[in-house]
Amino acid sequence: MKTDTKCIEGGYVPGNGEPRMVPIIQSTTFKYDTSADMGKLFDLEASGYFYTRLQNPTNDHVAAKITALEGGAAGMLTSSGQAASFFSVFNIASQGDHVVASSAIYGGTFNLFNVTMRRMGVDFTFVDPECSDEELEKAFRPNTKAVFGETIANPSLIVLDIERFAKAAHAHGVPLIIDNTFATPIHCRPIEWGADIVIHSTTKYMDGHDATVGGAIVDSGRFDWSAHSDKFPSLTTPDESYHGVTYAEKFGQEGAYITKATAQLMRDLGAIPSPMNCFILNLGLESLAVRIKRHTENGQKVAEFLEGNKNVSWVRYPGLKNDRYHALAEKYMPDGTCGVISFGVKGGRAAAEEFMKKLRLAIIATHVADARTCVLHPASSTHRQLSDDELKACSVLPDMVRLSCGLEDPEDIIADLSRALEA
Ligand SMILES: *Cc1c(COP(=O)(O)O)cnc(C)c1O
Repeated sequence: MKTDTKCIEGGYVPGNGEPRMVPIIQSTTFKYDTSADMGKLFDLEASGYFYTRLQNPTNDHVAAKITALEGGAAGMLTSSGQAASFFSVFNIASQGDHVVASSAIYGGTFNLFNVTMRRMGVDFTFVDPECSDEELEKAFRPNTKAVFGETIANPSLIVLDIERFAKAAHAHGVPLIIDNTFATPIHCRPIEWGADIVIHSTTKYMDGHDATVGGAIVDSGRFDWSAHSDKFPSLTTPDESYHGVTYAEKFGQEGAYITKATAQLMRDLGAIPSPMNCFILNLGLESLAVRIKRHTENGQKVAEFLEGNKNVSWVRYPGLKNDRYHALAEKYMPDGTCGVISFGVKGGRAAAEEFMKKLRLAIIATHVADARTCVLHPASSTHRQLSDDELKACSVLPDMVRLSCGLEDPEDIIADLSRALEA
């Protein structure tokens, strides 16, 4: 199936007389005839459901669709994008370990890594995605366990050279984890470029309607954990908390990573989305390909308008011909990037805030990548906990406005921006 078809047909395949739509299995528990039957599930000897804190059939149908869209081998849903970022790294890096991350990542991810995960004993080195080969090389340590980056960074819109980062990761025997939230698998499938694990905040384009917070993790099944067993003992030696199961041995290269994340992290941390939310996410996924096309068309038209406006000091949109990241965008996203644009208003921070007050159609919201056009001033909201130096390191300028083009008629979006810029 082509990607657009997978949005509709991927994941859930009803049998004879079964519901056409993904059924909502709104049940915490599942019934078994004997304790022995259930014991097999706990021992991971048989597959099946026993408690929705770990797994639920509705969730798994939707996870299977996202896995198919990304061209992965196994996947799972989490209760938020943050949980997906955390699980994706913590599944293979714990106390005493180290991770190399691009500095051009979502502010929440930066905080998770730089503050909370450091408190857990995981160390991070942040590298400029445009750093030299020597600088990238120097970031690695003997205890490095993963490399992390974002296809199109939120909100800086820096495009990552995925192939380059994949090569560096693999040269050091560790996987590349890519946050593909902004590009979506409609426009970029990082696994095709060498990424090993892909994560999403499904809260954004995948849901697309401002309705549900969620996340997803997809494993390509391509990373050979056993070939690097010295680095990944939690996958290649017995897990005593699960009756001595060795994930890489029992579930193979394709199943080990997601099975461990489910059996260990989901069991202990419980960041699972409700079946109802997964159902809503699936409604969004069905129209993802169609919506992304419109979001991108609107983004392109609005970016071109902003580029020509005298009250705008700079525009960052990888779809623009003279954007710094246009060549990378052409390579990784030949059909277009996304509907998010960042730009500066002449007059700096105060002018940016004043401009936003004057908007009528575009609302101020801590959101992005959904049906309704919205704006945000990152320096005073999502990134306000960061110092000026940290802001700079994340490529967030004080005058930056992040604009997410919705699905409205582009002429209405442009008229609104034009009027507010003039005012
Ligand atoms: C929003 C976002 C996240 C965090 O996702 P939540 O669903 O809000 O927890 C992670 N990465 C990117 C790129 C995002 O835009």
